[in-house]
Amino acid sequence: MKFSTRAIHAGQTPDPTTGAIMTPVYLTSTYVQQNPGIHLGYEYSRTGNPTRTALEQNLASLEDASHGLCFASGLAATDAVLKLFQSGDHVVAGDDLYGGTHRLFTQIFQKFGMQFDFVDATDPQRVVDAIGESTRMVWIETPTNPLLKITDIAEMVRICREKSILLVVDNTFATPCLQQPISMGADIVLHSTTKYLGGHSDVVGGALITSDDDLRDRLAFIQNAAGAIPGPLDCFLTLRGTKTLDVRMERHCKNAEQIAQWLQDDPRISTVYYPGLESHPGHEIACRQMSAAGGMVSFVLVDESESHAREMVSRTNIFKLAESLGGVESLIEHPISMTHGAIPAEVRQKAGLSDALIRLSVGIEDLEDLKEDLDAAIG
Ligand SMILES: *Cc1c(COP(=O)(O)O)cnc(C)c1O
Repeated sequence: MKFSTRAIHAGQTPDPTTGAIMTPVYLTSTYVQQNPGIHLGYEYSRTGNPTRTALEQNLASLEDASHGLCFASGLAATDAVLKLFQSGDHVVAGDDLYGGTHRLFTQIFQKFGMQFDFVDATDPQRVVDAIGESTRMVWIETPTNPLLKITDIAEMVRICREKSILLVVDNTFATPCLQQPISMGADIVLHSTTKYLGGHSDVVGGALITSDDDLRDRLAFIQNAAGAIPGPLDCFLTLRGTKTLDVRMERHCKNAEQIAQWLQDDPRISTVYYPGLESHPGHEIACRQMSAAGGMVSFVLVDESESHAREMVSRTNIFKLAESLGGVESLIEHPISMTHGAIPAEVRQKAGLSDALIRLSVGIEDLEDLKEDLDAAIG
């Protein structure tokens, strides 16, 4: 079955007792057993819940993978991956990560003796150079947040296989609709399902996808033992979101492409970051590993002052000033005072994250309305 068909049907069958076409929301904490240990596959809802199972199978199918595991948030999923390791283990990560991922690595797991190096993963040699004896994992985002840098996934797979270390790809920005890292050889894909997969800004969630049976078992153990699971209603909402992922992404990408092009040609703008533009340094790799360039666009105004950027993001009407991304509605934000405030200034500067950077999550509204809104706010 093709992607858009799987998005609607994978993991879901009409309810055998009523014929309900939608997966029921199983609001139950426990399940009756026939004899001790003899049951219909479920014992307790931290360990498993049928609504969650449907979502886990659906997400695995979208990534063309064997297993999915859902969590209470993207960061809860990240936390579960880190719990595969122990004190002394070393991780090489990209230097333009989601702010919360950076915070979890450095302010929680570093305390327990894990070590992290952040390098510009767009240059594979830097990843190779950072790998040492105790390195257990390479963690990348591509495209990154908020600079939309592109890392060559195939090259990362080659490096990690040679050194026998895990490759984890945070695929939140691209979604499986545009890019499928497991098919390319990545060990684990992470999603903040809060974003495009949910797609309607009404639910927080996370997921891990893998085709490795052993990894699946170890991660399922952590999911149950640490317990950061999503509730059944959250799973239902996310499952409803994935049904329209294909059509939503088509419009997100079309609108974002047009807006990036238009901003690039505007004399009031100094730099536009969008992997779909030929001027983007990762454009060629993006064309190779993504089917379209996504719905996120970042840019800097000609007047590169932080105060000017803060004023501009407060002047839009349709683009709402808010954190998060990937919903049907367009959002605008100022990363250094919002989503990326947790990253120390010197780390931000090293990664090239300007104090004047503005980030757009381009929604699926009418393109002309979106352009008019930005045009007036740029002033
Ligand atoms: C939002 C986000 C996360 C964290 O997910 P939550 O659901 O907010 O916990 C991780 N990675 C990326 C790229 C994100 O955008």
